[in-house]
Amino acid sequence: MGFDELGLSEQLLSSVADAGYSKPTPIQQQAIPAVFMGGDILGCAQTGTGKTASFTLPMIDILSAGRAKARMPRSLILCPTRELAAQVSDNFETYGKNNALSMALLIGGVTMTSQLQALDKGVDVLIATPGRLLDHFERGKILLNDVKILVIDEADRMLDMGFIPDVDRIVSLLPKNRQTLFFSATLDNSIRKIAKRFLANPKEISVAPPSSVADTVVQKLIHTEQKNKRQMLREFLANEEVSNAVIFCNRKRDIGILYRSLLKHGFNAAELHGDLPQSSRTSTLNKFKSGDIQLLIASDVAARGLDIADLSHVVNFDVPSNAEDYVHRIGRTGRAGKKGNAFTFVTSEDQKYIEAITALIKKPIETLKDYNKQNTPQAIIDKKGRTSLRRAKTRNAKSDVAEKSPSPENNRFGERVPPPVPTNEPTIGMGDHVPAFLLRR
Ligand code: AMP
Repeated sequence: MGFDELGLSEQLLSSVADAGYSKPTPIQQQAIPAVFMGGDILGCAQTGTGKTASFTLPMIDILSAGRAKARMPRSLILCPTRELAAQVSDNFETYGKNNALSMALLIGGVTMTSQLQALDKGVDVLIATPGRLLDHFERGKILLNDVKILVIDEADRMLDMGFIPDVDRIVSLLPKNRQTLFFSATLDNSIRKIAKRFLANPKEISVAPPSSVADTVVQKLIHTEQKNKRQMLREFLANEEVSNAVIFCNRKRDIGILYRSLLKHGFNAAELHGDLPQSSRTSTLNKFKSGDIQLLIASDVAARGLDIADLSHVVNFDVPSNAEDYVHRIGRTGRAGKKGNAFTFVTSEDQKYIEAITALIKKPIETLKDYNKQNTPQAIIDKKGRTSLRRAKTRNAKSDVAEKSPSPENNRFGERVPPPVPTNEPTIGMGDHVPAFLLRR
């Protein structure tokens, strides 16, 4: 089936051709005609399936007839994160370049002034995160009773992030007579219950089972200990052909620690999490997408919805405690049929999470065996304290630290004490140096 069989206008067919798409994806084949029919949709689709175009393309054609009034948007797209909202707005710009539609993006973390100016002119498409939209509404800056099409994107994420009460309130402000398109990566009972409140007789479209991982993603586990993870990551980065990677941590605090450590070791890295100002999040993402930044240390904010072309690796520096987050994280690589790699660092405490993940994806994940015994580079610290990575001369060479045979020694009271516990972590600086006496058992 070609795009020309979906009822799209000539302008849109031309934008789609310019975007380089030769044929519609399965969700587009099913959703585009259904949106044109005017009914509600309950769509189960993950990012990476072409889901955004499946609602933006028909919306552009529908909205092209008619004009917006000041402060009264004609359509509303609710997204859980600012990044996803920005991405949907990029899609509108790409596909709508031959249509004169106006659009506004209402997201937190950026000034309200430009958003208000856009609203004043009247917008056909309003893309918003729930909190910022309600902010504008409560200040009397926006009226929602002219919204004819509502899109709720990544509803499962909205639920996880506690946004459903905000969405409920927003929906209560919309006209009853509207078309609602509801998308979620999963359709479990709680999501279906929510969907029921917002949809009337929806057409259900499902294009990928919720737990599916693209076959093009090679998944591996690397067993390690918490204290060795950073060293292990540096070795991994030097061993693997990593052109670019998103490295996920579970906690924001750990993102900062890992980010600073990688910078100190000369890696081209940046951090991305919800506590950073929106301006720096946007510029970091742009730099990462353009290849100026190689490693992005990120929280799950970056896991969903982000479309990064040609991402060679995803690294789970921490195993996600929610199995579905694993699927979303590794879905950033191996997109659109390309080959991808997903590596997960596992400690003994993570076993139960790995079990939940393998149960969800319904297959075991292979362990990358003897990682330490490969020709791994060693961190070399020069006189100025800078560290570089150098490969050991022979295969299977072990690090100096590991090779020293431990022997007991006397402490300053003349007592025999066990030797320090060997560690692979190099001494990097005062901040990272653990005095030897603390390592003695
Ligand atoms: P999404 O699932 O909306 O996040 O889209 C994932 C990626 O697929 C984006 O980079 C889109 O530009 C791309 N895409 C969307 N539709 C098509 C298509 N029909 N053919 C090829 N790529 C597409």
